[in-house]
Amino acid sequence: MALKMIIEVRHPQGEPDLLCPVLYCDVCGERLDGKRGDYIDVYAYRQPEGTQAEDDYYAGKASVPLSVMHGGTCFDRFNEKHGYTGYMPIDHLPVYLAAQLGLAKTREDWNKLWDRVVDV
Ligand SMILES: [Zn+2]
Repeated sequence: MALKMIIEVRHPQGEPDLLCPVLYCDVCGERLDGKRGDYIDVYAYRQPEGTQAEDDYYAGKASVPLSVMHGGTCFDRFNEKHGYTGYMPIDHLPVYLAAQLGLAKTREDWNKLWDRVVDV
């Protein structure tokens, strides 16, 4: 399974309702909150090795499934099951995703995005 995201509805007093995406660990199923113990949560992917798929992956012609998980034990379990695994800290995910969506590639873009989404 990869990237289980759920919308959590919040009702701040006197403010518009918020629809907040929430991520759950693809290994243990518990909610991600950014950090567990000394380990930051991560997103990880099994990188193809030694095949045409590897060449295609590095040429930007193929994609791989993305999973999210707690760092530390959950990442270790994922790595043991799937072999060579690439990963990044979870705080990189929204930044890269926003850039790939064309929403925020510069600091000025981020400030505008923050103003539009958070400071409504
Ligand atoms: Zn976990």
